[in-house]
Amino acid sequence: MSGEFDFIQTYLSDRQMNRKDVHLSLGDDCAIVKAPENVRIALSTDTLVAGTHFLANANPAWIAHKALASNLSDLAAMGATPAWVSLALTLPTIDEPWVKSFCDAFFELANYYHIQLIGGDTTKGPLSITLTVQGFVPEDNALTRDGAQIGDWIYVTGQLGDSRAGLEVILDENQRHKPFASELEKRHYLASPRILVGQALLDLASAAIDISDGLIADLGHILHRSEVGASLNVEDLPCSKELLDFCYSSRVAQQYALSSGEEYELCFTVPEENRGSIESALAHTGTLVTCIGQVRTQGIFEVLHHGKPVDWQLSGYDHFKA
Ligand code: ADP
Ligand code: MG
Repeated sequence: MSGEFDFIQTYLSDRQMNRKDVHLSLGDDCAIVKAPENVRIALSTDTLVAGTHFLANANPAWIAHKALASNLSDLAAMGATPAWVSLALTLPTIDEPWVKSFCDAFFELANYYHIQLIGGDTTKGPLSITLTVQGFVPEDNALTRDGAQIGDWIYVTGQLGDSRAGLEVILDENQRHKPFASELEKRHYLASPRILVGQALLDLASAAIDISDGLIADLGHILHRSEVGASLNVEDLPCSKELLDFCYSSRVAQQYALSSGEEYELCFTVPEENRGSIESALAHTGTLVTCIGQVRTQGIFEVLHHGKPVDWQLSGYDHFKA
């Protein structure tokens, strides 16, 4: 393959149905798109760098899934409907089996969520992937971090902690013998962005965020922006059977659930009056949701085990912390 142009032709062009709102896609200097009436555009960019977000020798299909899923998760956290994505790809070489596997997985996930690749850039250098996703939110409504009120209930989707266990398996050979090690490794890469849940929560949740740095850190962002506090009940944290076996103890699994990053589950708050509607509003999504605590006055942050404060050291992930 001779280079960037061939790569675009062979692996990126004509891989998707053309959305009606895409007037010009790959091939010109810019893409041209048109949003429907009465929507606003939600837009987000995320970068994944080899060695930081994935190992360079990881399965390319899993890398592609993680890159797109983590970006779609930001749209989900706003209640947005995915529309368009652009892809800035930096590759050390154009290794054909690698790019084929990467692109096949990318388009499989993109097609599932009706998000169209409309442009991007391809350069040579250390492996890194930057995606910009765009989606639609109603003109008068989006899930933001700043709406939580005292008394609201705190929920999470899915199960928490698996991603951290998977990451430990990826980084430490000695963890491979533990129960469900390869299943958890796979889950680390193959998150399901909670697009349908986010959309269904638009009229029900007071605040939402996706869990990328860990529950404690990301709930912390909601609390900070909403100027409130919280209490969490660790016995209610949803942990998978595989995680419980991997950790050999429910206490350790709960600690993973509180701190595990890159989960791409949603954490959201629901006013008392909407609580009864949550189950039916989310039934069609087939997604587990669990109430794990309640919003309190600012300054309070309690992590309770059957009503008693735990004394665990808790933190989330920050790229620039030592
Ligand atoms: P320019 O030199 O004008 O930046 P390029 O040669 O970089 O154009 O790209 C040609 C076309 O291919 C553009 O429409 C661009 O959006 C698209 N493109 C290039 N790389 C990618 C990529 N990794 N993903 C999607 N589209 C791409
Ligand atoms: Mg270019």
